Amino acid sequence: MCAVSSNNLKSEICNLKSHVLVAVPVPNLDLLTYSVPPDVPSPVVGARVVVPLGSRVVTGIVIEANTSTDGASGAEIKSLRQVLDAEAFVPPDVIALARWTAEYYAAGVGDTIPALLPPMARGARVDAHKTTRVAAITAAGLEAISADKTTDKQREALELLAGIPMGMPTPALASRGIGSDIVSRLARHGYISLRHDRLNRDPFEVVLRSDSSPTSVRTEVGLKSDLSPTGDNRRQLTDEQTAAFDRLRAIADRKAFRVALLHGVTGSGKTEIYLRLSAAVRDSGRRVLMLVPEIALTPAVAALFRDAFGDRVAIQHSGLSDGERHDQWQRIRRGDVDVVVGTRSAVFAPLEDVGLIVVDEEHDGSYKQEESPRYNGRDVAIVRGQRAGALVVLGSATPSMESYHHAMTGKYERVVLERRVLDRPLAEVAVVDMREAYAAEGPDVILSRPLRAAIQMRLDRGEQSLILLNRRGFATAVFCRQCAGTIDCPNCSVSLVIHGEGNARRARCHYCNYTARVPAACPLCAGPYLERAGFGTERVEAEVKKTCPAARVARLDRDAIRRRGALGSLLSRFRAGEIDVLVGTQMIAKGHDFPRVTLVGVVSADVGLGIADFRASERTFQLLTQVAGRAGRGEQPGEAIVQTLYPEHYSIQLACRQDYPAFYERELHFRKAMRYPPFVSLVNTVVRARTFSGAMDDAADVVQKVRDGDSGQLRVLGPAPAPLGKLRGEYRAQLLIKGTNRKHIREALQRALASRPELQRRIVVDVDPLSVL
Ligand code: ADP
Ligand code: ZN
Repeated sequence: MCAVSSNNLKSEICNLKSHVLVAVPVPNLDLLTYSVPPDVPSPVVGARVVVPLGSRVVTGIVIEANTSTDGASGAEIKSLRQVLDAEAFVPPDVIALARWTAEYYAAGVGDTIPALLPPMARGARVDAHKTTRVAAITAAGLEAISADKTTDKQREALELLAGIPMGMPTPALASRGIGSDIVSRLARHGYISLRHDRLNRDPFEVVLRSDSSPTSVRTEVGLKSDLSPTGDNRRQLTDEQTAAFDRLRAIADRKAFRVALLHGVTGSGKTEIYLRLSAAVRDSGRRVLMLVPEIALTPAVAALFRDAFGDRVAIQHSGLSDGERHDQWQRIRRGDVDVVVGTRSAVFAPLEDVGLIVVDEEHDGSYKQEESPRYNGRDVAIVRGQRAGALVVLGSATPSMESYHHAMTGKYERVVLERRVLDRPLAEVAVVDMREAYAAEGPDVILSRPLRAAIQMRLDRGEQSLILLNRRGFATAVFCRQCAGTIDCPNCSVSLVIHGEGNARRARCHYCNYTARVPAACPLCAGPYLERAGFGTERVEAEVKKTCPAARVARLDRDAIRRRGALGSLLSRFRAGEIDVLVGTQMIAKGHDFPRVTLVGVVSADVGLGIADFRASERTFQLLTQVAGRAGRGEQPGEAIVQTLYPEHYSIQLACRQDYPAFYERELHFRKAMRYPPFVSLVNTVVRARTFSGAMDDAADVVQKVRDGDSGQLRVLGPAPAPLGKLRGEYRAQLLIKGTNRKHIREALQRALASRPELQRRIVVDVDPLSVL
């Protein structure tokens, strides 16, 4: 912000024509400079402006106002067309956070725009000549809201439009239940104006969605009653919870920046602490940002906050329709809420005076955005907390190596919950060595005898089981017995995965979605003996049905929840006891609290270990510990059965003992020896090209340039073919830069890329990658 005021001064002194720096929603673009025409009031930081861009006109956000144009040649500077907001649309501190994010993650500021704005802002590419009717609220309409002289439905429409000064296309209104009859009545009263717009005039306009059906928020509200069976929010905290709460509260009371790691075993009651801490912070007059990995998957947390804070809470996640997300955003912006519960991008919520930021399950991979800007919501949350003078609580039963390291070295406060509430024991974990199972029962065993018996026992007792296999599909590959060839994706360097059985059988690529029929003979040698190899969740589901015909079995993975609403209905059926055995991927391991689950089975615990990634062990440990933590959360104690080919591997052994500190020590040793985070910072760079040699040559060139510009502080690995050497028809080469100073790495890379601007569209830079695949 100081940059702005000094520029203010400059422009006063020199009496220059006013200029602004604008971010536009176009990938990888730098900030653009525009002049402000004399008859237009100079826009403030955070205001939306309509600007010419090439032959188009787009809406951007002012990132810096009254900027000087030293060095830029005035002749090239275009003037902005229109200023849409008199005040900041996005608060200046959020703009500053976005700038930080763009810089840190080596992205264009414009890339952050989708996270900054309500979802209506998403750009849609539509036919340039199509027009649509757009309704915008008038001053009389605004008055009508406060005068309360409309019907409920009309009022709903006006309130919606009040939040979108530029108006909303009538089809979008219709998809929200506001039909043409209401629109024309409002227009007749003069409460709204109607105009015809070219559809692509403005990328911030409403994107039509045909599938805006009931939302998860409603599901969450519907879940309310069985979430808090006691209906008592003021239940007694355990001694451990009390101690943790008191400590965190004392820190929050200081109203200064601090990060605390709340390391609590699964079922230790962390949510209850978040709730009370949020209430305390709210009562002290400050606001709360609660980040969760995936709301649709674990609606319980949001529902508890809704119960506790009523309409002073806003929920932000991708399961809402655009209109609803837009409403939530506007409520936050207007200051109508004290608490925001949301996923990753909610870290940019326009909430003022934030005193507490909670990042639940801080280790979770879904905090990392897998497209530019490749930010980690947890880390941006820490920066936001620092700027706001807030307490940031990172909660997890299995903290990331980085966070735990900071807690151990004193950079973060460390708060521990070692016991489950009501002294419920952690699940007993038994390991089944699959090498022995294969020797005893043959190589086709999928569910070992102990696991089969355990599932049957739960059925007999009317209890529930979760069965984890972190791999989708029926079979993972098809190979030819004659030539040993596999059926591979034509676009990617992976083999196709078989989905479905019988006539419904299809081979599909999990990366590009290429789908083919499963051939009867080998496409390479015409050999007739094609064999399926490996198995995924679909096969496990079929096996459970076969061994326990009476069981009600369902599957939860990305394929099973493609249909809208399928996820919510699966989860509520399981909660209601209409499903006995739920088979699934890591989705079933996340933060669920199902009291009737007493058995967790892990079919192949080692799925993730064979992956050439420095986080493979960490991820395996987290997944196993988390899924085991789903058992025995109610009255009955839980049991976990873990099948593996590597029973001696430390991440499997220590997860079975649920011994986090021992795992941390062991893994830290490996990270130190191999020079990986948390000891060094990493930047992963992938170069794409139409040919393999093209990708390798370009990557080699970047490697050379980085090395040339380095004075011995960096270590550059590569170029090497990326583990996924071909993806969607493009070849990929990789280089990995390690160093102790991220800024240094970034700058070295930026210098190297400066001489190859044409590479920019073919290069992906991932700062602090979660995976280097
Ligand atoms: P975590 O997030 O640490 O895994 P949860 O917050 O989901 O644990 O809490 C586990 C279960 O214990 C939940 O069903 C919750 O309602 C319950 N619970 C939490 N605190 C208490 C308490 N003080 N007394 C009784 N039950 C509690
Ligand atoms: Zn593919």
